Amino acid sequence: MVLGDLGSKLSATLQKLSRTTVLSDEAIDECLKDVAKALLEADVNVRYVSELRSAIRNQLRLDEALAAGTNRRRFIQQCVCNELSKLLTPDRKPIKFQKGKCSVVMFVGLQGSGKTTTCTKFAVHYQRKGWKVALVCADTFRAGAFDQLKQNATKVRIPFYGSYTETDPVVIASEGVAAFRKDKYDLIIVDTSGRHKQETALFEEMQQVEEVVSPDDVVFVMDSHIGQACYDQAKAFADAVKVGSVIITKLDGHAKGGGALSAVAATNSPVIFIGTGEHFDDFEPFSAESFVSRLCG
Ligand code: GDP
Repeated sequence: MVLGDLGSKLSATLQKLSRTTVLSDEAIDECLKDVAKALLEADVNVRYVSELRSAIRNQLRLDEALAAGTNRRRFIQQCVCNELSKLLTPDRKPIKFQKGKCSVVMFVGLQGSGKTTTCTKFAVHYQRKGWKVALVCADTFRAGAFDQLKQNATKVRIPFYGSYTETDPVVIASEGVAAFRKDKYDLIIVDTSGRHKQETALFEEMQQVEEVVSPDDVVFVMDSHIGQACYDQAKAFADAVKVGSVIITKLDGHAKGGGALSAVAATNSPVIFIGTGEHFDDFEPFSAESFVSRLCG
């Protein structure tokens, strides 16, 4: 995973600082500039990078005890890690579902973000824990969306609901969820329509679906390849519906992990899983600690 790139860049930067005999203000500035560059290249939002830089500089100025070179080095490293951890740990905790309680989860995201694939991965994750899980295809916008969900669901033997004739996603969502609720499913996963870009029609549709299914959680699915656009995209979805969790997909390719930080910041919601490939098994629970410790070494 390219997160490693950020990790190695950060440690190279800090090592460079260790080799500097005199730890002057210029040397620290130079180091902070390199740290900022590494974070930006990993798609961490510009705003946070500059905040991070000034937070570290201010603290260095304030704390006399940091005058010694080694302390300063360690301090800078710690500051970077602490700030990254802070960014990845939103106030809101992950929503916990309970077996036997019939929870509904609605998935939202742009077309191509990996939403349908991720719905199935999520379903399989709970199915393996022995839960009764079902999928509802409320994506009537993309041709073939229902077939794709049907194929996925059949492959993993998970019951599904959808329609070739009904064009109103709100009707499908409502009927599908009602049917599975009646049969006392533990978890009902609703896949919604995506669009190529954030647009009013998509958001209105999402809000209508949200209203009829009253989801216990709304999962925002984001493609990690979108770079610096992560923040605005995540914010737009969170402003439209009650996003409570984030899943970042395609972290297996050349993606950079920084977008995860932006999505958390924009939605104030935790990343719960990451997608690391096209197969249903390429799905990992997300841990902020291991993410940051991988970055900081
Ligand atoms: P949707 O339009 O958001 O429902 O997206 P799809 O689920 O159809 O996924 C779009 C493409 O991304 C498909 O080719 C998926 O196989 C692929 N995809 C989804 N998740 C991942 C992932 O984590 N890694 C990789 N490499 N591909 C993924």
